[in-house]
Amino acid sequence: MNEIAPSPGGHVKEGTITMDAGEMRCDANPSSPTAPDPSCVVRAPIGLLAELTHRCPLQCPYCSNPLELEKVNVELSTEDWQKVMRQAAQLGILQVHLSGGEPTARRDLEEIVKTAAESGLYTNLITAAVLLKRERLEKLKECGLDHVQISIQDVDTQAENADRIAGYKGGSAKKKEVAGWVRELGMPLTINAPIHRHNIHSVEAIINYAVELGAGRVEIAHVQYYAWALKNRSSLMPTRDAFMAAARLVERKREELKGIIVIDAVVPDYYAKYPKPCMGGWGKGIINITPSGRVLPCHAAESITHLEFDNVRDKPLADIWLNGDAFQKYRGTSWMKEPCRTCPRREIDYGGCRCQAFALTGDAANTDPACSLSPLHEEWAKVADVESHQSPPAFVYRRPGGATPKPAAEKTPVSSDA
Ligand code: SF4
Ligand code: SF4
Repeated sequence: MNEIAPSPGGHVKEGTITMDAGEMRCDANPSSPTAPDPSCVVRAPIGLLAELTHRCPLQCPYCSNPLELEKVNVELSTEDWQKVMRQAAQLGILQVHLSGGEPTARRDLEEIVKTAAESGLYTNLITAAVLLKRERLEKLKECGLDHVQISIQDVDTQAENADRIAGYKGGSAKKKEVAGWVRELGMPLTINAPIHRHNIHSVEAIINYAVELGAGRVEIAHVQYYAWALKNRSSLMPTRDAFMAAARLVERKREELKGIIVIDAVVPDYYAKYPKPCMGGWGKGIINITPSGRVLPCHAAESITHLEFDNVRDKPLADIWLNGDAFQKYRGTSWMKEPCRTCPRREIDYGGCRCQAFALTGDAANTDPACSLSPLHEEWAKVADVESHQSPPAFVYRRPGGATPKPAAEKTPVSSDA
């Protein structure tokens, strides 16, 4: 996903709720022994990740969609999504990321984009690109589409490897063609490259390829091992040495390509000292809406089994953002346990990922084991070291259904060492 511009600090007005940014503080956890959390000021979110559908023709082994995909017959209607776009703009949201699955699998994408643009939202299409035709891209631009983000698996000279990773023959060539159309139509382009053992040797080539495609930004996004990616961790995990070499290379390329392309990098949890501030803090800046309209603080939040989620079919978005149980639960810092509670970094990384803490410790309020201060960290990090040195097993491909994919032939994976 793109880096999101800072919010101007929104005035929130929806239904009966009226709030100026900075006015409202939350008691995220009333049972907490601490006083109401002064860090927990609720402002308008800046970004909305709209998962228009879970259908997808690709079969990526690191797919970040939930294990249980939502079916086409429960997806929000065109009118529902249009209502969401208007409510998002009223709430103060600036940017909408139209995602999936594969958002172009929705025939009404043009209507949704048009309403979002007319409501004043900056629209970003996050796509695997393989279903797009030039005429449709032109139409989407006419409807107000501002920006396109295309995911790639490897560079065009490694098309066979790229197609093998995505499980889609011809995908690499098609993505290159679509990237060309995006630039010809004068739209800004971001290239997103999930990085793992099977392409970490290509990081420099991927950055150069993004420049060649005319992208203004490239995301070197090391795979995060949640959801489907966890099933393939032992196949995808790079060695620490390969990761360190890639990290140094990113730094060098940042210097070399200053003013030409912005290079974002997402570090793999297993090799980090401290966790990422997941979503910039729970319930702090981003709203995620699933294809059926469930409103989540992060795209993996449904994996925390005790949380209950509101639906945009039943309640206004602003009400859900301000008062929804799932948003309140881990907002701010008052819900934290030690060592996070008294840690000077607690308002920097917010204790890391709640979903990972829940998956690995059984309690989402625990410190994310990705943190070196977690008592579980050492044991957990050892897994990466062991798995990354073993011979990688064959991929367990994601088979989302919907469009009919053409799987590329499986072959012996390439070496992991950069
Ligand atoms: S299969 Fe790949 S392209 Fe499709 S939703 Fe999953 S990660 Fe995205
Ligand atoms: S102890 Fe908690 S707040 Fe401190 S660095 Fe680790 S995860 Fe972040």
